[in-house]
Amino acid sequence: MAVSHRHIRARIAPLPAAISTLALAAGLLCAPTPWSPAHAQAQPPLQTGDAALQAQIETRAKAAEARLIAWRRDIHQHPELGNYETRTAKLVADHLKKLGMEVKTGVAKTGVVGLLKGGKPGPVVALRADMDALPVKERVDVPFASKAKGKYLGKEVDVMHACGHDTHVAILMATAEVLAGMKDQLPGSVKFIFQPAEESPADFEPDGTNIWGAKQMVAEGVLDNPKVDAIFGLHVSSGIESGKLAWRSGPAMAAADQFWIDVKGRQTHGARPWGGIDPIVVSSQIVLGLQTIQSRQVNAMLEPSVITVGTIHGGNRMNIVPEKVEMMGTVRTYDEGMKKDIHARMKRTTESIAASSGAEATFRVVELYNATINQPALTEKMAPTLKRVAGDGNWMLAPKATASEDFSFYQEKVPGLFFNLGVTPKGTDVTKAASNHSPEFYVDEPALINGVRALSNLTVDYMTMAQR
Ligand SMILES: [Zn+2]
Ligand SMILES: [Zn+2]
Repeated sequence: MAVSHRHIRARIAPLPAAISTLALAAGLLCAPTPWSPAHAQAQPPLQTGDAALQAQIETRAKAAEARLIAWRRDIHQHPELGNYETRTAKLVADHLKKLGMEVKTGVAKTGVVGLLKGGKPGPVVALRADMDALPVKERVDVPFASKAKGKYLGKEVDVMHACGHDTHVAILMATAEVLAGMKDQLPGSVKFIFQPAEESPADFEPDGTNIWGAKQMVAEGVLDNPKVDAIFGLHVSSGIESGKLAWRSGPAMAAADQFWIDVKGRQTHGARPWGGIDPIVVSSQIVLGLQTIQSRQVNAMLEPSVITVGTIHGGNRMNIVPEKVEMMGTVRTYDEGMKKDIHARMKRTTESIAASSGAEATFRVVELYNATINQPALTEKMAPTLKRVAGDGNWMLAPKATASEDFSFYQEKVPGLFFNLGVTPKGTDVTKAASNHSPEFYVDEPALINGVRALSNLTVDYMTMAQR
């Protein structure tokens, strides 16, 4: 059942009384979701790390919950596009300064980095939230719905936090509050990374020649001084029931590349196609030819892959065979070697099909985002923490996602673990819930405290385990 607007209005609880903290903290025994019921096994609670610090996190997270939700609503109502997150960045920087941190602003344009120095020596853990919104007109009926406008590629657009990055910022602000409150007892330091433009900047079409977001932050040294030992991040997901945690070891989200194909034929009268070379028919053959790469050429047992032609432009009149056709699309892969192999096959397929008709075609591809790969050793080490935080029956093995994340650029440099937090209200069919990027993307706010609990516990457990 899709969530109707009326239902959504009814679910917005007044602040803060109706927030069902206890139900979440206790770990809801949810029905298995269509995602991976076989893996959502009940397990005995696993003890990792320092129980006293863990108990403190619970108390402090509950105390911060009302502010967490108020921040989320405020940021939701004032979304900003990639590299224009100035209001959000100020909110974050002011908060981190108030917590007594060293704060750097203007990192990778609008990014903010706070350093919390623990009272005892130990590792440096980085936690990351992305801050940008999308050019989407909100259709969710909540009192804090966005009416914001922004400029996207030079045009005025409606702006919405349709990917839930508002919740990521609020969750990390609350996590900062939790950990700052216990900093004297922390055996290590925490770097809070608030990153711009995860979805790419609002002011140019990404073509691989520029860098932005996570890649830019890494280039500006966010993982150095002090050197980060491990990084954690999360993403809210409509495909998972509210409050549940999901993750997987190894490749978790796909690499995303963009390609361009130009097909040059010879223009002629549409009634006499033999007088020219028809780039529309050639392009049609190329579109179909590209689909045989995954289905007939690469090893289907190794990793999945997707090739999508997203645009095709050519011609301006029904009875003219045009001179050229331009196409653009995306490739999604999980394995570096397979990615390069697919690119080579796409080039060969494109050029050979064009040549067979006497046309000429060029193929160009740029790599935009790498695959998000959770380091197996770190994932194995921290899984007991995530299971304990989620509670029995409230976690699962995430399937691979074909969406991409620039969190991958941190993971390329340091061990990293990226996990999902479910935000679709209990009782709603997650397969029918409006997905991230939809104008109807809806966040069940009582889920958010589990994000704070997860990030805080991952940090503290990682530090305490490093002491042994
Ligand atoms: Zn997104
Ligand atoms: Zn996102």
